[in-house]
Amino acid sequence: MTKVPDDVRLDLRERARYFAELTDVGVPRSALSAPGSAVSAPPVAPVAPVASVVARAPRAPVAPVFTPEGAALPDLEGVRGWIGDCQRCKLAGGRKTIVFGQGNPEARLMFVGEAPGADEDEQGLAFVGRAGQLLTDIIEKGLKIPRRDVFIANVLKCRPPQNRNPEPDEILSCQPFLEKQIALIRPRVLVGLGKFSAQWLFKSMEPISRLRGRIGDYDGIKVVPTFHPAYLLRNPGAKKDVWEDMKVVRRLLAEDEP
Ligand code: URA
Repeated sequence: MTKVPDDVRLDLRERARYFAELTDVGVPRSALSAPGSAVSAPPVAPVAPVASVVARAPRAPVAPVFTPEGAALPDLEGVRGWIGDCQRCKLAGGRKTIVFGQGNPEARLMFVGEAPGADEDEQGLAFVGRAGQLLTDIIEKGLKIPRRDVFIANVLKCRPPQNRNPEPDEILSCQPFLEKQIALIRPRVLVGLGKFSAQWLFKSMEPISRLRGRIGDYDGIKVVPTFHPAYLLRNPGAKKDVWEDMKVVRRLLAEDEP
């Protein structure tokens, strides 16, 4: 029998752990998807923690899971129509607005945050509050890219009550929409802002402190995890770390210059 390399096994374990955490019954979403869809999630078995893994070989790309309905959509307007007046999870009752995300549909750089806050829920736009202002500075003053040239979206499209953390069923309900947004935009680089986004993009339960500093692969797109701007507002000392991450983003974009 072919021996599976240790790093691949650990990688699969970490993804299994991610999907197991997201599903009540420990069934990966791939098991629920349409036959023939591009699925790479591993089977879920009880898994041991992988706390000792820090440096490792590059992971295989994380592949999105498309439902037949999502696969057919040609553009972002179609995805917005697919979401509709979404009632798929319990956040529907408390939200004012669905925050789809905004920016250049052909962006080379895409940021993914966690979920809308109060300002975003009010205005229907991602990252428009205080954290959003800081994100604008990171993009425009740090990366020297006009904000309108990037695309900004969130793992969740609706505001959780009192800005609490996203819950597993909410992440799973919203997952197809972000997957399809990324598939249509096909940025060169994805920046995961904060724990929930970084874990979603890596399909890993590892803490942001361990994901930071690694370059992930989401369906062939480079992933750079960094701290969430709201965390930076509370911990300005971490701005230097974000700056290091943005230097990596700049390098990856430059390497991929058309
Ligand atoms: N925090 C997020 O993660 N996303 C937003 O859109 C706003 C604040």
